[in-house]
Amino acid sequence: MMELQNLIGGEMTNPKSGAWLENVEPATGQVFSRIPRSNAADVDAAVQAAHAAFPGWSSSPLEERAACLRRWGALIARHSEALIAAESQDNGKPVSLARAVDIPRAQKNLEFFAGAVEHFASEAHIPGGAEFIHYTHRKPIGVVGCISPWNLPLYLFTWKIAPALAAGNCVVAKPSEVTPLTAWMLSQWAAEAGFPAGVFNVVHGLGHEAGQALVEHQGVKAVSFTGGTQTGAHIARTTAGMFKKLSLELGGKNPAIVFADCNFDKAVATTIRSSFANQGQICLCSSRILIEDSIYETFRDALVAKAKRIVPGDPSDASTKMGALVSAPHRDKVLKYIGIAKEQGARILCGGVAAPAPNDRCTSGYFVQPTILEGLGPDSSINQEEIFGPVITLQRFSSEADGIALANDSAYGLAATIWTTDAAKAHRVASQVESGIAWINCWLVRDLRTPFGGVKSSGVGREGGVEALRFFTEPQSVCIPTR
Ligand code: NDP
Repeated sequence: MMELQNLIGGEMTNPKSGAWLENVEPATGQVFSRIPRSNAADVDAAVQAAHAAFPGWSSSPLEERAACLRRWGALIARHSEALIAAESQDNGKPVSLARAVDIPRAQKNLEFFAGAVEHFASEAHIPGGAEFIHYTHRKPIGVVGCISPWNLPLYLFTWKIAPALAAGNCVVAKPSEVTPLTAWMLSQWAAEAGFPAGVFNVVHGLGHEAGQALVEHQGVKAVSFTGGTQTGAHIARTTAGMFKKLSLELGGKNPAIVFADCNFDKAVATTIRSSFANQGQICLCSSRILIEDSIYETFRDALVAKAKRIVPGDPSDASTKMGALVSAPHRDKVLKYIGIAKEQGARILCGGVAAPAPNDRCTSGYFVQPTILEGLGPDSSINQEEIFGPVITLQRFSSEADGIALANDSAYGLAATIWTTDAAKAHRVASQVESGIAWINCWLVRDLRTPFGGVKSSGVGREGGVEALRFFTEPQSVCIPTR
């Protein structure tokens, strides 16, 4: 059986406690590897190693840091077939998705922040005729913690560590214990990419053990976290009195607002994708589909017809479009929500049950049918709580104001999609929707320079481009006389 290790101070190491966790393949329900069950002692060793490496790394020329990131990106490209297979095996996502999205994007994250840091500039304030000039010196923070979730494992892992390292910090990262494989593979190539020992460390383990120890560690000056809202709130409470910098990218309950004047076919096709991509396990997935009255029935019927054609398959099969949910507890959570929806009087238009195993290999896998529900009011827990699976609800609205109000009737505010061919209306609605991201007549189109994050219970702070480099640096205002 494959055995993963931590990367601490440039060495691949076993957990100090000698305890291990089993790692399960979601498509088969079988254990295929084991990972360190790290504790506070492992985290402390990683933080110490990172501190020791910090003076050298933070003062290294930024071209050198950028070159390390680019070489790492090239290593991802060289090993892409192995990474695609590993991501699919570890997460249950189709290989086609890992090939099209996860692995190329992980490479791109490293290359992007190599370039971004080379173009990163800070401000100077030079009042005309004044006797003093002021400039902002953006310094690396020190040792930072990066905690990432299981849904886009390498994609979101690199989205955090790349800007942190580019800005001159040393990193202790904790990938989700549910999907540790590709982060472990990447950690094995850190030295080959040129990172000095201790600059980049990975500690595997449980969130409430290794994750908690990382968040609590006095030597960790900033925490960048992507995960659930409850965990984010817990981390915010834990760090509140410690004055750490905190970036929180949390959950969503994203509306797709479909107006009667939309491009119908494009709106249906993209809503299917935005609802069910990665088995609905993307924080940006649409989960509340809001449809204008006059097209409600035709749009619903078109959506249901397409959803019925999606058959969950073996993720390792190149033709599979929908794979397995990430774990048995997560599958059970999704099915429990469907049960609650039934109790609340929802009509199940398609799905609503576990999907049959696609083949003998997958008889114990975690497959769920794409599910569309209607008949629940906006206050229903199904319309308020994040399910994070292939389950969407349909609601109708009668006017622009009504649609906006329904979209905003949520504790969350991560992403919204707006479907209309009226450009003025599109801008109007986008400006009134409470979300960090609004996609008009498209979904999941990303430019890595744009700010990424949510409002309300979807998080605090922004990632992406300059925002990420600002987060991972501490600005010092310097003032000097001109004579
Ligand atoms: P969790 O909040 O359960 O976990 C996220 C990470 O935090 C994991 O590495 C987890 O470790 C770790 N963790 C858990 N408890 C603690 C703790 N006390 N201290 C420190 N770390 C801890 O989220 P999931 O992994 O279940 O991911 C799904 C969630 O992520 C969804 O809510 C989704 O919306 C959100 N998400 C948000 C995105 C965004 O950009 N806004 C993007 C992608 C996902 P372990 O796995 O070992 O428990």
